[in-house]
Amino acid sequence: MLKDQDRIFTNLYGMHDRSLKGAKARGHWDDTAKIIQQGRDAIVDQMKSSGLRGRGGAGFPTGLKWSFMPKESDGRPAYLVINADESEPGTCKDREIMRHDPHTLIEGALIASFAMGAHTSYIYIRGEYIREREALQAAIDEAYDAGLLGKNAAGSNWDFDLFLHHGAGAYICGEETALLESLEGKKGMPRMKPPFPAGSGLYGCPTTVNNVESIAVVPTVLRRGPEWFAGFGRPNNAGTKIFGISGHVNNPCVVEEEMSISFEELIEKHCGGIRGGWENLLAVIPGGSSVPCVRGENMREAIMDFDALREVGSSLGTAAVIVMDRSVDPIKAIWRLSKFYKHESCGQCTPCREGTGWMMRVMDRLVKGEAELEEIDMLFDVTKQVEGHTICALGDAAAWPIQGLIRNFREEIEDRVKAQKSGRLGAMAAE
Ligand code: SF4
Repeated sequence: MLKDQDRIFTNLYGMHDRSLKGAKARGHWDDTAKIIQQGRDAIVDQMKSSGLRGRGGAGFPTGLKWSFMPKESDGRPAYLVINADESEPGTCKDREIMRHDPHTLIEGALIASFAMGAHTSYIYIRGEYIREREALQAAIDEAYDAGLLGKNAAGSNWDFDLFLHHGAGAYICGEETALLESLEGKKGMPRMKPPFPAGSGLYGCPTTVNNVESIAVVPTVLRRGPEWFAGFGRPNNAGTKIFGISGHVNNPCVVEEEMSISFEELIEKHCGGIRGGWENLLAVIPGGSSVPCVRGENMREAIMDFDALREVGSSLGTAAVIVMDRSVDPIKAIWRLSKFYKHESCGQCTPCREGTGWMMRVMDRLVKGEAELEEIDMLFDVTKQVEGHTICALGDAAAWPIQGLIRNFREEIEDRVKAQKSGRLGAMAAE
């Protein structure tokens, strides 16, 4: 279990002063110029050796991503864009950073931008985060007033401006290229890749898009050293991580923990156990709504990191852990996610536009058992035709929960179809 002295986010619950004064008292903004004076390459190298993998879901190594930015400008400016669109159902970790510990993010934005040769950074915050925007903007204003942002930011000889942009509430704007389109004032529709943002991103200029948590940990990683950060978690899964646990645990919470903690320890130590005990655990979605669910009995021993969750057929994603006990109808729960993805599809590519609606309509019928047994395989096939055949990952995000359901709960789906056919379902509902 992570010790208090190893927490990066020491005000995650807003119990302390979130102003600049409070942040400084907790060790933030402590000689930031000295970190910057180490130079670009040294900072990128340290981020690489820290083993930090992007905290937005994909888990791409952060230092490596930074190294894709051009070393020399060809005349175009470079940008860091921070993805604060946090719209994945179940995910609520970045909001705690922005409203309670905003200076971790602002200081991280300065250091990361310097490391990528960017004099300007944008934070794109989701439309629904109104109080979070206010808290973050107040912190940015404070940082400007204190000379930590702007010309010669924090006395580092680096001029740096940070802008907060408020989105309008579309899930798809959390996809990095749709986010860039939206930031440019266009409709939030994903771009084809390549070109990748590091070559041509915001306004056609070299851009890196990073998640809030990935940037907010940077100052502490550099202050305490990459070895310190790499010392948590298993190899290739380094660091501390913010988990957001919701659903049927006794105390749902957001907590910073060591990567590779076991699911059981996470739930017992921080959430007071499963509602009704471990025998009552039905299923878990371990990484936000887009990753496949795992049956409760396979989850208890699971290790919470990128590689281990792949071994149980799922993914760490954003570490938004959704716990479902036996009161849940798993078919209906996944149907609800299908409805969400259908609603949020931007509609520009056919497999997603048509597929999400098609999958949702079959799920509609499966919830009621009004389907043929062959349709289960047919639905699985369609998810495979959507997966990997779309411009962005929303197609995959719509396909994976259904695949997880069919892999783990086929018997339940079949039973419901059979019960409907035999009239038992109607009789059960009438009871
Ligand atoms: Fe739009 Fe869906 Fe295609 Fe993504 S996969 S670009 S959301 S239609």
